[in-house]
Amino acid sequence: MQALTELSDRALHDAVVDAGGKPFQSRQIAHWLWHHGADRFDRMTNVPGPLRQKLAHRFAVRTTDVKHVDLASDGTEKLLIGLGDGETVECVIIPDGERTTLCISTQVGCPVACVFCASGMNGVKRNLTTAEIVEQVLVAKGRLTDGRRLTNLVVMGMGEPMLNLDALLPALQRIHDQDGIGMGARRITVSTSGYPRQMERFAAADPSYNLAVSLHAADDALRRQLVPTASHPVRDIVTAAHRYFGQKGREVTYEVVLLDGRNDRPDDAEALVALLGALPCTVNLIPWNPVEELAVARGLRRPASHRVDGFADALRRGGLKVTVRRQRGADRSAACGQLRLRGGDGHP
Ligand code: SAH
Ligand code: SF4
Repeated sequence: MQALTELSDRALHDAVVDAGGKPFQSRQIAHWLWHHGADRFDRMTNVPGPLRQKLAHRFAVRTTDVKHVDLASDGTEKLLIGLGDGETVECVIIPDGERTTLCISTQVGCPVACVFCASGMNGVKRNLTTAEIVEQVLVAKGRLTDGRRLTNLVVMGMGEPMLNLDALLPALQRIHDQDGIGMGARRITVSTSGYPRQMERFAAADPSYNLAVSLHAADDALRRQLVPTASHPVRDIVTAAHRYFGQKGREVTYEVVLLDGRNDRPDDAEALVALLGALPCTVNLIPWNPVEELAVARGLRRPASHRVDGFADALRRGGLKVTVRRQRGADRSAACGQLRLRGGDGHP
């Protein structure tokens, strides 16, 4: 059964009118869907019962449901979202002082297969639909209590966002739109492992979201060891990112997952300085969050903190702005790169 969240505003209007309702009632229903996050028809209290019933014969309200919640000791919550076809994806709510950030997925699995990431271990099954992407935000908002608001959205969960722009761009539009969820574009960040052509398409979209680029290494040969499917030279990726800055006026963040002895050596820092030192950007260092199978099979290790600090200092001496990402939710495998494709039974 189709869900209301899958309908465009026009299609919702037509469905409401078909069911004997008035155009203003389709706007009321849209308000219930996006603003109040109603997940059942009976929550839509100002919509007449007979109209709700007629719609309920033809439509569900949402396409997804929450199958499981993992609460980590630091307050991070990982939600296992069940999709209509039995697949699942994960999203993560990360409270941090005044901020509450939601990390959402865009694909079931990931085709990029970075050697350090759990999401890409079993390839990709399919793209998420626009409704499945937006619903992760609705579900997360519905779980916030104590007056907490969702302040930031990062598209950094499972999947490569640039390989699903057809669904992601309308989803972001709905998330950002004042008549939708109404989240400011400045609070939304999309992370990509680097697809220059798609980054151009992303740049052409209105409004201006923040862009993060997962670079990991300045040197092409080293990067290809870490991101084996990468077919674009680092130079082209950085050029596309810099063009994004030029068009949007938003500084790009470069993410570097640090792996002990692989890409955290002084030479690696120097190469990053040479590549990025003159650009307006920030480098976000992410000490690797262990994924056991990958640690065993590929001998990967999280670097000791003094190595991370040394790497950060070397970048700073080269004139770069550097942040180091704190690990969140790791005791529930909810940290970056620990989200994975699960079996169809929906349980971890
Ligand atoms: N596919 C996109 C977005 C999802 S991954 C991308 O790669 O950018 C989000 C971030 O988590 C990326 O920077 C990625 O490199 C990082 N990441 C993946 N696996 C990780 C791990 N095990 N530990 C730390 N960071 C990881
Ligand atoms: Fe995919 Fe990003 Fe994981 Fe690489 S790091 S496999 S691009 S989700």
